[in-house]
Amino acid sequence: MSNSTIVAQATPSGRSGVAVIRISGPNAFLYAKKLSRFSKKTFHHTVRLLPIYDSNQQVIDKAIFTFFKSPRSYTGEDVVEISCHGNPHISESIIESLRSLGASMAEPGEYTKRAFLNGKMDLSQAESVALLISSRSKDAALHQLNNINGAISKKIKTIRKELMVSLSSLEFELDVSEDIDTLKTTIRKSLKYINNNILHVSNLVRSHARGSVYSSGIRVVIAGAPNVGKSTLSNRLLGADRSIVNKTAGTTRDTISAEITIAGAPITIVDTAGIRPTSDKTEEAGVNRAVSEIARSNLVLSVFTHNTQAIDYAEDREQIMVYNKEDEKKYSGSDKNVISVSALKNTGIKKLFSAIEKKVNSALPYSEDTLINTERQKSALEDCLVFLNKSKEHLESGGLSLELATVDIRSAINSLDAFLGKVTTEDILDHVFSSFCVGK
Ligand code: GDP
Repeated sequence: MSNSTIVAQATPSGRSGVAVIRISGPNAFLYAKKLSRFSKKTFHHTVRLLPIYDSNQQVIDKAIFTFFKSPRSYTGEDVVEISCHGNPHISESIIESLRSLGASMAEPGEYTKRAFLNGKMDLSQAESVALLISSRSKDAALHQLNNINGAISKKIKTIRKELMVSLSSLEFELDVSEDIDTLKTTIRKSLKYINNNILHVSNLVRSHARGSVYSSGIRVVIAGAPNVGKSTLSNRLLGADRSIVNKTAGTTRDTISAEITIAGAPITIVDTAGIRPTSDKTEEAGVNRAVSEIARSNLVLSVFTHNTQAIDYAEDREQIMVYNKEDEKKYSGSDKNVISVSALKNTGIKKLFSAIEKKVNSALPYSEDTLINTERQKSALEDCLVFLNKSKEHLESGGLSLELATVDIRSAINSLDAFLGKVTTEDILDHVFSSFCVGK
């Protein structure tokens, strides 16, 4: 456990009904009691309404103090949460007083880092805390909550347990037993475990695609010539007038984006400026940005009308061809994949939503509940997979290769330990926790 006692505001700064300031560490109770001049004994889950004194001995607020006794707290240390009025002057003054008593400012993610270091959660659960806070859709949040509650850790631990069983029985056979038949049985059993777990681990690696769709979302870019109705369509999809609709061509000079949820995934709809050669400098900048937006998108809605040609932006990304202004003239082309709409009259929009949903679902290839989230998790499991495949080959070869198989199984187990953060370096921890906000 750490020797220092840390403090930070756990709620966003600014004005609000309530702000929560969190103290964690060996002197949390002592500092909180000094701050409020409270001298009675405090226990786990003691809750008190207490005055707060500033450095001039003036009462600056009355607040609810909740005491959590180690190890039954978020960090595993003694923790006090002070729920005061949500005014920045009050919370700053409380934090200042606590610092003058000896508390230090918490680093980003330090509470969760302490929770991890004190064994309250493993590293994948800690990662899900940051991802839950930044979740951009309900499904994404539920999925992270599932992981915080241990869904993914449980799977990894089950795989680890089976590999440990294989490893120890193989090692036993190699060291002790001289019975060829039992050795054969052990190899057969181990191969069964390894094959099963190759399947489980590859499924989890594949689940990263869906996990990252939940965390990063999908970018849908609306592209097309000026005046085809991109802004009108964007407004229609978002259900709000965010872009300026204008009759003069080339008015959307910047890209405008906003977010909706489709198939449980956060979808950013980006309205681009009309792509056409231009001599106007501002418009040119907008056009360049549109081109780069298309490059970083997952899906392009290529909009055209009876007056313009359909443009193919796809290359290696998903695309839906959208014929707009069907109210002026019906689509007469032969392409069955074209979705015909009138953004202005609100026709065909449901069909377009279903087409987008289909594309989103195809970007979510894996439908099991447990998903991995981060590149770190993915790369640990990819390492595990390499070692499992190697151990499989060695087990199949038999003879002297059996020793090598045990080495590979041990390495596969080490990769799972890296996933859970059982073995880790300061660099990895810094990287994981730097993505957190202060106070979490
Ligand atoms: P953008 O330049 O591609 O973003 O096009 P806008 O959304 O600004 O629309 C250009 C013009 O086309 C405006 O006058 C819109 O009202 C009109 N417009 C957009 N969608 C439709 C549609 O479905 N039918 C008709 N008749 N006009 C439309």
